[in-house]
Amino acid sequence: MTQTKGKIGVTTENIFPVIKKFLYSDHEIFLRELVANAVDATQKLKAIAGKGEFKGELGNTTISIEADEKKHILSITDRGIGMTAEEIDKYINQIAFSSAGEFLEKYKDQLDSIIGHFGLGFYSAFMVSKKVEIESLSYKDGSKAVKWSCNGSPEFSMQECKKQERGTKITLYLDDESKEFATKQKIEELLNKYCKFMPVKIAFGKETEWKDGKTVETDKDKIINDSEPLWAKTPSDIKDEDYLNFYRKLYPMKEDPLFWIHLNVDYPFNLTGILYFPKIKDRMDVSKNRIQLYCNQMFVTDSVENIVPEFLTLLYGVIDSPDIPLNVSRSYLQADSNVKKISTYITKKVADRLEEIAKEKKEEFESKWDNLKLFIEYGMLTDEKFCERAMKFALFKTTEGKYLSYADFGKLIEKEQKDKDKKVVYLYATDAIAQYQWITAAKDKGYYVLLMDSQLDAHFVNLLESKIKDSKFARVDSDSIENLILKQDSKKPEMQEGEELDLECAFAAVLPEEGRYNLVAENMGETAAPMFITQNEFMRRYKEMSALGGGLNFYGEMPDSYTIKLNIENPLVKKIIQEKDMATSEKNKDLMAQIANAQDAIALINKDKEGKKDEDIPQEMKDKEEKLNSTINSLREEKRELMREFGRKNTLLKQITDLALLSNGMLKGKQLSEFVSRSLNLLQ
Ligand code: ADP
Repeated sequence: MTQTKGKIGVTTENIFPVIKKFLYSDHEIFLRELVANAVDATQKLKAIAGKGEFKGELGNTTISIEADEKKHILSITDRGIGMTAEEIDKYINQIAFSSAGEFLEKYKDQLDSIIGHFGLGFYSAFMVSKKVEIESLSYKDGSKAVKWSCNGSPEFSMQECKKQERGTKITLYLDDESKEFATKQKIEELLNKYCKFMPVKIAFGKETEWKDGKTVETDKDKIINDSEPLWAKTPSDIKDEDYLNFYRKLYPMKEDPLFWIHLNVDYPFNLTGILYFPKIKDRMDVSKNRIQLYCNQMFVTDSVENIVPEFLTLLYGVIDSPDIPLNVSRSYLQADSNVKKISTYITKKVADRLEEIAKEKKEEFESKWDNLKLFIEYGMLTDEKFCERAMKFALFKTTEGKYLSYADFGKLIEKEQKDKDKKVVYLYATDAIAQYQWITAAKDKGYYVLLMDSQLDAHFVNLLESKIKDSKFARVDSDSIENLILKQDSKKPEMQEGEELDLECAFAAVLPEEGRYNLVAENMGETAAPMFITQNEFMRRYKEMSALGGGLNFYGEMPDSYTIKLNIENPLVKKIIQEKDMATSEKNKDLMAQIANAQDAIALINKDKEGKKDEDIPQEMKDKEEKLNSTINSLREEKRELMREFGRKNTLLKQITDLALLSNGMLKGKQLSEFVSRSLNLLQ
């Protein structure tokens, strides 16, 4: 063959600057593309040999990568099928180049988003090289070795060469900006990222050994990949230890996973992979995008968020599928029917596996629940289908540390914890220590209290309420236990007119200033505590959700508002009321009488005004009314101040208030130290 020269069949006069510019962000994928071609060529030869159409020796088919760091040259050599001159002309000169041209034309608007997913094959070599050479000897009998060379213009040369070994060697003469791709460190990094599990052995550099006090290179090739990764093996041949070791290899710094699933399906799409459930203790532990996506053992990406439902991005592991389209932009991915099927399939498999473990390895499932819970709750909150499935295997944890399925827990409480409106009340605590006294009060009644202490629980409680029929969730400290599970309408205690308001003033005077309080007098029995401070369940839930970023900021900005439940039947409260009467009743009566007088006078004026138009009412009368109103206001303020003063002076009142605050974890700073010294004084 004489030397041939020709022009590559691309329409653009010089496409190289264009491609370099467009593909700037991801030059490094060239190595993956070239190694993938070498892998293909090797596997094709093996397939041909398998059919008996290649009679020669396969020999060592290891792909070898070599670099000359000084001359900035990198080569990839395979022992695959090779190419004849005609084939180079067809596949490289015509097809590869024209398809690269078409590719650019078609995707020029989206290149940024797809690059890294879809290489340009052989052509990507020009992203980093000023000159590329192919030397190839086809496996076909009587083939002649051929050398192709192209220096980055659309012109190439092709001539015979002396290559002895079957296969193809691609040599890249790196351009000045891409010199680093000939360094050992960079090549190792790229091979490790993209080629770690490619299905043909790849050699780069030599094995080292420890000799005479230093590491020296041996003459044994260093194989950088695991050509038979665990996910490609038959699940029944794999032991638990193998799965764990594989995980440790993928994520050397992580704690061992809780469970794993081996995915293996070949119809209606092809997919293999292993997904691991990591231990997630709290939100800080959540890391997304730990799943690696492969295509026939070639690494594609580790951001899979458009391929699997969002909650599954919390899992770790690998997915390998040639059926996930890589040559479309990310936003199209979700709409792709194969991707949809794959996504549904994975969700179903994850649910199947969890259900199976929950059933067959109940104890193990329970023991790992705390670390699994956040993942499952997140899935339930974000994926309707998963939620439906998970309702069957998700667990409740009680404050006693017992784990029960939703159905079992429902059965346990359905009789005792049903309220007068036939709703089953699910009591829960978010902090077993801080809410201890409330939990105890509930337990004393024979009720069960759930522990819902994860960061998602504020949202999760709402979800459960909507999913579990006729249920109501109530935090155990949001009201007195009698009110939380109301068996019948409660009776208001009998009190003097205005007395509840008086007490509210007296107590508010000694409560922390940041909150808003309203006082409700209740009959809770002689033995129940004198006073409870509660926070409305819904208000608190909304505030918590807005803190988590649920878009309910209006509630987030409201001050905390509390209800003070005063147990009128408690002897201490009775005593306080008596003391209040003694200290204030005389003045109080006087103020009330004055208020009543003023009110009577206003009533008379109103009668006078009846039927009169505004302009007919004498100014004098209007002035009088205004004056009376302002008198009433100041009398009322005086009355309130009277009560506040009583509150501030009454030791017993202060003491029971502080105790109620203390048991809610709300007694702090100055108030706490005053409480301590007051208590000590009382003991003397
Ligand atoms: P693709 O691999 O997507 O077909 P490429 O541009 O990477 O596109 O390669 C074009 C063609 O050139 C391949 O289909 C193959 O026939 C041939 N080819 C590329 N590299 C090799 C190689 N190392 N050995 C044999 N043939 C090769």
